[in-house]
Amino acid sequence: MDSNFINQKYIEDLLEEAQFSNDENISCSLNKADKGAALTHSEIAALLKTQNPQHIERIYEIAGKIKKKIYGNRIVMFAPLYVSNFCVNRCAYCSFNHGHNFKRRVLTMDELREEVKILEMMGHKRLALEAGEYEKECSIDYILECIKTIYEMKFKNGEIRRINVNIAATTTENYQKLKNAKIGTYILFQETYHEPTYDKVHLAGPKKDYLWHLNAFDRAQDAGIDDVGGGVLFGLADPYFDVMGLLLHNEHLEKKYNTGFHTISVPRLCPAAGMNIDDFPNLVNDDTFAKIVAIIRIAVPFTGMILSTRENHDMRKKLLRLGISQISAGSNTEVGGYAQAALSRRIESNSLSSTTEGSHARRESTSNPQFIVNDERSAVSIINELIDDNFIPSFCTACYRGGRTGDRFMSLAKSGEIGNVCLPNALMTLCEYSMDYGDDTFRKKTKTIIENEIPHIANETIRQKTIENITKIHSGKGRDFFV
Ligand code: SAM
Ligand code: SF4
Repeated sequence: MDSNFINQKYIEDLLEEAQFSNDENISCSLNKADKGAALTHSEIAALLKTQNPQHIERIYEIAGKIKKKIYGNRIVMFAPLYVSNFCVNRCAYCSFNHGHNFKRRVLTMDELREEVKILEMMGHKRLALEAGEYEKECSIDYILECIKTIYEMKFKNGEIRRINVNIAATTTENYQKLKNAKIGTYILFQETYHEPTYDKVHLAGPKKDYLWHLNAFDRAQDAGIDDVGGGVLFGLADPYFDVMGLLLHNEHLEKKYNTGFHTISVPRLCPAAGMNIDDFPNLVNDDTFAKIVAIIRIAVPFTGMILSTRENHDMRKKLLRLGISQISAGSNTEVGGYAQAALSRRIESNSLSSTTEGSHARRESTSNPQFIVNDERSAVSIINELIDDNFIPSFCTACYRGGRTGDRFMSLAKSGEIGNVCLPNALMTLCEYSMDYGDDTFRKKTKTIIENEIPHIANETIRQKTIENITKIHSGKGRDFFV
């Protein structure tokens, strides 16, 4: 096996040559993409390099069309859950890095339950479990115990139905344990595919080993985890190099395991305690970032794209139209942060009976979030705005629960049948959310959007079944339906 499928020189040459691509060639590539044809590496590199405003407008337009065609107006919702900030690694960009001196903590199971209860009260059904790397305080057994505890928990009507896991690269044996624990997607960001930069920003620890990190998804796939989610941390190296790296990594997985990334995350470097953002010379501005999101959408139309609260409200709004299919909401990037924020809000309103999901999610903790979030709105206000903007917030976890992972999901997506599956699931889970957590105004609003969307379910039988199930959810006679 070639363990280094990222050929640094190949990517550098592609980007170098792309500078000489002329307007006519780029227009031809864009016409090709508009017709749904796959683009070559050189064509994608040329799109990345173009500064021509007309081409960029076209890139946005085509990405928007692809997004609409494949994902409709559904947006899958999730929240991160940080369980430990102990870490042996010295990643120069991260506030959890070993060299940063602050009071560290790992959640006890009782503390974990407190966090999950709050997330369930926000209506979340899907979490991304996050941790630093530290065998002693946060072993694989600890992570497995967290997963078991979360899946077992039910608070009122709330429950977490899918746990995606974002923990450090590990062994095949540990990936098997995660597989057995029924995780959703195993997420790991390469941070950067540019080896010299990777070496420079990872000062010490197991993560410093580029190939160990790069080959983590091969080990995960070998262990039977067929939903893996990639990403790079934009702001470390040349962003165009990293987009090409992501696409080559995806192709490697497709060739070897018949399934590429289930999702691609697009985190952008944010200020954090223990690092100085001015030390990073490759920060990505908003226009370049939007162009990158749109080009990834064009290059890998069927791969879900995840955006976190690292981005501010305006940027998130814009990127939802260009390709993002999954966003976090009401996020807290601190260990124990949800309970802490809920406590400060209770003290603030001086009422122990106040609920957590309705008020503005201000973060008042003085401890150590992994990075500063830029969209501080509560989950409920984000969900409300999505609906006002004609999006359908989806709490669906059906594919994973129905065994549609890896290539089974991809063939569904590519068959064009996704609208007969994802749309009904989004509508049923949104209806459930509105009944469990919405007030009258919210329910009315959801009812309208559901009624408007139902005719778009092409399959007659599934449409009728969806109407039946929604009636049952409304009358309290059933819940947790999925296609
Ligand atoms: N510790 C594991 C690892 O590093 O692979 C798990 C993930 S870590 C909790 C989550 C991700 O946060 C990292 O992969 C990194 O890309 C991102 N991150 C770290 N510092 C950041 C910062 N200052 N701004 C934005 N994202 C950051
Ligand atoms: Fe640790 Fe992950 Fe932060 Fe690196 S990015 S310091 S591995 S938590």
